Amino acid sequence: MTLIEDLLALFQVDRRLRSLRSRVDSAETYLRVQQGHMQTLQTRRDELETRKRQRQAHAGNLETEAAGIDERIEKFREELNSTSSSRQYHAVLAEVNALKDKRSGIDEQTLAELSGIEEIDGQLAEADERIAERAKVIESAETELSSRRDEIKDSLAELEAERAEKATSIPSDVETLFNGLADDFEGEAMASIELIDKRRREYACDTCNVHLPFDIVSRVTGRPDEIVQCKGCLRILYASQDAREALVK
Ligand SMILES: [Zn+2]
Repeated sequence: MTLIEDLLALFQVDRRLRSLRSRVDSAETYLRVQQGHMQTLQTRRDELETRKRQRQAHAGNLETEAAGIDERIEKFREELNSTSSSRQYHAVLAEVNALKDKRSGIDEQTLAELSGIEEIDGQLAEADERIAERAKVIESAETELSSRRDEIKDSLAELEAERAEKATSIPSDVETLFNGLADDFEGEAMASIELIDKRRREYACDTCNVHLPFDIVSRVTGRPDEIVQCKGCLRILYASQDAREALVK
């Protein structure tokens, strides 16, 4: 077998291997995306919890403040009962009324905090629902991934062995080039030379459509142990059946 034929054999098995792996790759990507969504939902939930704690703390402080005011009002009331002077009575009454105003202001604030907490509770319940839904999606994505891994396990081992075997007949520098191209172009390391116009001897790369001068074509067909890369897309060129036949005739 010529080098190009060996490379074509490697090319075929490499593509089958990549397409097999891509079944698992896409399931892995899907799972990662779902985990990313889950992370976002959890972060949002944590933020809600923090806000709830802040409002609860504020409501607690208001409650303490209100209790303090109630105590002071109570003391002033006792003073009112024991006072005999009308002037003092009115002065204390004014204090009591001022405290009552303050107290109702605190009540309003407390109410606002409590309704804010209620609103957050609603948002938390909603977040929990979405987290539960997403957890189900993640669970089924994990099941899918592991079943795909199981499905391909045997064929993957076979193809890997076959690929390694095909690679043994290829010089290491050529193999390195091939592997680099295959990684860069998702397995498409090689491109065929297509016959465009037989009479005018026009040929092109079937991957990037760049026009290939005749001397390139004759090098690829005439020296099949030499590596020729397409100037347009860098892939390793091989001659299609059509192109070879056109040259022979
Ligand atoms: Zn090309």
